[in-house]
Amino acid sequence: MSFADLVLFDGNILTMDPKLPSAQALAVKNSRILYVGNNPGATQYVDAKTQVIYLDGKTVLPGFIDTHVHVVDYGRLLMWLNLEGVSSIKNLQTLLVNRVTQVGVGKWILGRALNSMDLLEKRLPSRQELDAVSPDNPVVFYCQSGQVCVVNSKALNVANIDQQNDLGIERTLDGELTGVLRDQATNFVWSVIPEPTFYELYLSTELALENFVQLGLTSIHWMVLSEVELLIIQKIVEVSSLPLRVYLIVPVNLLDLALQNLKRLENERFKLGGAMIFVDGYLASSTAALFEPYSDNLSNQGKLLCQKTEMFELVEKIQNNGLQLVVHAVGDRAVQEAVVNVIQQIRRNSDIPSPRIEQAAVLNPQLMCCIKKLNLSVSIQPCVVASEFSVWSAEKRLGERVRWLFPVKELLDCGVLVSAGSDCPMEPLNPLFGIKAAVNREGIQKVSVFEALQMYTVFAAQASSVIADKGSIEKNKLADLTVLSCDPLSVVVDDLDSVSVCFTVLGGVVCCSKN
Ligand SMILES: [Zn+2]
Repeated sequence: MSFADLVLFDGNILTMDPKLPSAQALAVKNSRILYVGNNPGATQYVDAKTQVIYLDGKTVLPGFIDTHVHVVDYGRLLMWLNLEGVSSIKNLQTLLVNRVTQVGVGKWILGRALNSMDLLEKRLPSRQELDAVSPDNPVVFYCQSGQVCVVNSKALNVANIDQQNDLGIERTLDGELTGVLRDQATNFVWSVIPEPTFYELYLSTELALENFVQLGLTSIHWMVLSEVELLIIQKIVEVSSLPLRVYLIVPVNLLDLALQNLKRLENERFKLGGAMIFVDGYLASSTAALFEPYSDNLSNQGKLLCQKTEMFELVEKIQNNGLQLVVHAVGDRAVQEAVVNVIQQIRRNSDIPSPRIEQAAVLNPQLMCCIKKLNLSVSIQPCVVASEFSVWSAEKRLGERVRWLFPVKELLDCGVLVSAGSDCPMEPLNPLFGIKAAVNREGIQKVSVFEALQMYTVFAAQASSVIADKGSIEKNKLADLTVLSCDPLSVVVDDLDSVSVCFTVLGGVVCCSKN
């Protein structure tokens, strides 16, 4: 009989394992689950050295997995002052003066999510109010949309704005600059803000990773966009330990570099998992490749970015290196011609995870059958889906095809493996926001909360073939757990985003406990 390192009692454990869907207690030994069952059953694994936690009815889920995040970009955002909820210009000045002291003379200070309606004064601060506490550091505070910002005199100076005559530059009746810049005019300042140094990016990326854990994530699929990200992750893995498990997906043009520098660093928390090919663009910019033209521009049907012969070469290269093929394909023509038609003809290697389509936004029933038949997985970002409907009119752009825009429920019903992610920092990181967005979809068949939870746990684990180790709470799997304040299955849908994370467990070790 072996004793456990950690035992959780009195929990509402949702295992995501159909053989034993719920349990009360679990025991962990050497980073893996030793027992799942009830309190009396778990008691026998406790000895003097066992860490015991009484959960008091809290809900335990397999650790959340986000299958689409941009970590360095998120870190970059964390370097900025978060102005969300600041309630007066005086408070804003206090935040600013603290930051000035922190960063030192002359450094740029950036802020985000300023909302004038939250401020007591119900207006944006003037440049003079920013100057009063930051005369020597250039300051730029962006409003929520990013289309409007307010800057101080130093920033106006550096950007030479007095010499410009753009409509977006706000002036008083006397022609004096107020510091508010709109739309295009925000670029005058943006273009002179210095890029963060490598070391700054490295530190902010570490901070970003810590934030992931606090939001209940134990694994992420890190979608790399740039070469500098490879250098940052290399440094993080070399000098410290990742606070959660990372499955790295690199763009195919960086594949050689990633193989050369990162493959050798793989460990139980880090895996070079996949390589991504972009075969079309995005719906928001009308660059996704469609069979029929866009409904609001009959001369445009998007275009394929990768020709078939090139596609075959890249696919072979990715598979030969033992990596998962990930294809960014948004439009129906991209999914059919650049994914389905290609994968039908290639030799598949059963040792690597099935190819995965990123987005697969515009589908139809026949295309869904092909995806199922070829055993491809689909990775979606529920908050992005919600934005596609609210930010621009999907119906106007796609006409009747909007019926088959991100048909998540239909894909699941058809037996396709669908995993979910955030696309953070484009959309909020919190998995519970994503779960709510997935369940709350308007005008289309909705997924259930349970299905949304599956997309963030067991399906996400299947999508990268780590199902033997993760995704559900079962004996011998890694003890990666997310502990929530209440049961997402029993709260009303509107309250899903207020469910909070109490702590996470990574390989049997309790992280960021708030108790
Ligand atoms: Zn993305």
